[in-house]
Amino acid sequence: MTEQWHCIGCGVTIQTTDPNELGYTPKAAIEKGLENEEMYCQRCFRLRHYNEIQDVALTDNDFLQLLNEIGKTDALIVNVVDIFDFNGSLIPGLHRFVGDNPIIMVGNKVDVLPKSLKKPKLIQWMKERAFEEGLRPVEVLLTSAKKNQEITRLLATIEQYRKGRDVYIVGVTNVGKSTLINQIIQQATGVKELITTSRFPGTTLDKIEIPLEDGAVMIDTPGIIHRHQMAHYLGKKDLKIVAPQKEIKPKTYQLQPQQTLFLGGIARFDFIKGEKSSFTAYLANDLLIHRTKLEKADAFYEKHVGRLLQPPAEDELAEFPELVRFEFSIKERSDLVFAGLGWITITKPGVIAGWAPKGVNVVIRKALI
Ligand code: GDP
Repeated sequence: MTEQWHCIGCGVTIQTTDPNELGYTPKAAIEKGLENEEMYCQRCFRLRHYNEIQDVALTDNDFLQLLNEIGKTDALIVNVVDIFDFNGSLIPGLHRFVGDNPIIMVGNKVDVLPKSLKKPKLIQWMKERAFEEGLRPVEVLLTSAKKNQEITRLLATIEQYRKGRDVYIVGVTNVGKSTLINQIIQQATGVKELITTSRFPGTTLDKIEIPLEDGAVMIDTPGIIHRHQMAHYLGKKDLKIVAPQKEIKPKTYQLQPQQTLFLGGIARFDFIKGEKSSFTAYLANDLLIHRTKLEKADAFYEKHVGRLLQPPAEDELAEFPELVRFEFSIKERSDLVFAGLGWITITKPGVIAGWAPKGVNVVIRKALI
């Protein structure tokens, strides 16, 4: 029997035979890993050192199996969501799997939201949305894993509800679950960056168990890949521009009906019918917005995408999906959300349309701010 090692980044079993399969590590790297007592699979190694992602498949079936397993266990569940992409980070059907287990909902990346946003209001909003999904979280918390905000409180809350049980941390990819767990580990043990983190979705592969004081464990589970996240359709360079990294500075536009806003070349907002009113965009600060007339918008896009309207860059155009249109009739103050990009708040009734690359969700929700 040969010895088995696990990657301390993602938890996968290390293998040295197939470079295209999960857990591949060159033999020489294993020796080095043993020397340093730090075994990484090649994928996590590259990610840590070069911020470079290798594609890997985690099927929906595996994920369902995992949820099933959690449902059968008496445990505390911590569901991490990206507060900036709330709808995009809900786990479909999670309420069916949690059973009677208590669930804590953690809204991460709170540092990205504008400071003007009142936190109690946001927490209330999250509770309402969670209820709509059939979830009854015992507690809703806001954290910034990146800025180490409210992690201590999260740990105290976990302790309060855990009552000696194991803790499962679940979330879709890219919500910042690994970063959050790294912070937890650091606070608990002083080890830095034990788990791989990445700007790119789908990087936490297998379960990782973190021992807790009373013999129970905190379990980091792999994220399910949400195909409608923007990150699947953009190159790494573009993702840096469009995925908000820092506190958003909202931008307000006074629009007449029949006007269009282009969000770089990756999305589009049409104000079709209604009174002249203000529209506020909550998007990455580096994403350039162009205003034009609706009737000229198609031609404008044809002509300028990849150049004036970026991203995508010119050399990415061939692979960039076409924009797909979603029309909505607005009755109350609402947000038009582009999954993974951000949203535009509409203040008055009217008719609008949002466009996003084919495969990326565009939804309407009750205004957050
Ligand atoms: P996972 O797939 O859920 O494990 O997500 P990661 O931990 O790999 O994080 C995904 C991306 O979100 C990375 O680029 C992180 O730097 C970023 N991120 C994670 N937590 C935060 C946060 O609290 N604030 C901000 N602004 N970014 C975060």
